[in-house]
Amino acid sequence: MVYEITRDYIRTGNSRSGQRIGTVRFIVSHDTGNPGSTAYGNRNYFDRQQPSASAHAFIDDKYILEIIPLTEKAWHVRSNVTGDNRRYGVNANDAAIGVELCHGGKINFQQAYARYVWYHAYLCDKFNLNPRNDIIAHATLDPSRRTDPINVLRNHGISWSVFIDDVAEALQNFGNSNPPDTTTPAKPPTTSKPPASVVKGTTVKLPIGEGDSGPFVQDIQEELIKAGYRLPRYGADGHFGEETENAVMRFQKDYGLAVDGLVGPITLNKLQEVNHQRVSASDFPLPTGVLKRGSQGEAVRQVQRALKQINFNPGTIDGIYGPNTEDAVRRFQSMYAALADDGIYGPNTRKYMRMELDD
Ligand SMILES: [Zn+2]
Repeated sequence: MVYEITRDYIRTGNSRSGQRIGTVRFIVSHDTGNPGSTAYGNRNYFDRQQPSASAHAFIDDKYILEIIPLTEKAWHVRSNVTGDNRRYGVNANDAAIGVELCHGGKINFQQAYARYVWYHAYLCDKFNLNPRNDIIAHATLDPSRRTDPINVLRNHGISWSVFIDDVAEALQNFGNSNPPDTTTPAKPPTTSKPPASVVKGTTVKLPIGEGDSGPFVQDIQEELIKAGYRLPRYGADGHFGEETENAVMRFQKDYGLAVDGLVGPITLNKLQEVNHQRVSASDFPLPTGVLKRGSQGEAVRQVQRALKQINFNPGTIDGIYGPNTEDAVRRFQSMYAALADDGIYGPNTRKYMRMELDD
């Protein structure tokens, strides 16, 4: 069995410092401790609230979702615990990948567990780790405060050693071949710049500048336009040319950033921040009918704009309810136990989107 890994990184802030992690030495296994909260529910929470805690990946029955690049640190173990230093000679946050199991509510445990096991094996393969020595439970590192994920696994009849056996077995199936990464770089990685931000399923290297093209450029152009930096000649065409560069430089100048015409993490965050402040719920009317794959028109466009606003990228705002829009609706629905994950926009989904927009 091979699973897809979705890379949909949160913006930088308290949860994501952007600091490089160095050599990955081990994995810390967690559960969210929040029954029913999904991978995307967690992603949105960390993206918006930016608590000073985080983990690299959240796994539920539908997604293996990396929210922080594996090249960066996440904050998932208190720095004053000593088990990590004793065992590995280093603080967990400086050398470990943090993996969270989502459970409870409507999450199918077997499906989530299978992905959790597979992803641990994937990490062992990727970083050349031994499951028997290099995977540790958060509870083992911080026994006075934590029980994760040992208790949740045990509640489902799985002891820690069975879990490790399952990972070891999954790892054997990796053999020498790398698992197919279903995510595709937007352009060949020609530099050692860290991957910094992402369109769902697509890793993008920042900074982005003149000559780059693709959906991510289009996103940036749409953000620029939204922030009031018009692109009269070419619009949001997905090609980073002189017009876009000039708009970026004007934006950087206006907001006191280094004026280089390149969109790196700082410029991108500023752009998103400016646009976030600008909007109010009334900017996002939501249609009342039912919309689904094949629907078209202004109502679909409203739903797409709203999805984009709440960080569920529906692809191009084109008024066509295609696979990307359907997928964005489904990802949104996966956050709520009350919603069926059918990818169909209707009154219930509308209600929850309204709440999310009014947040
Ligand atoms: Zn934990």
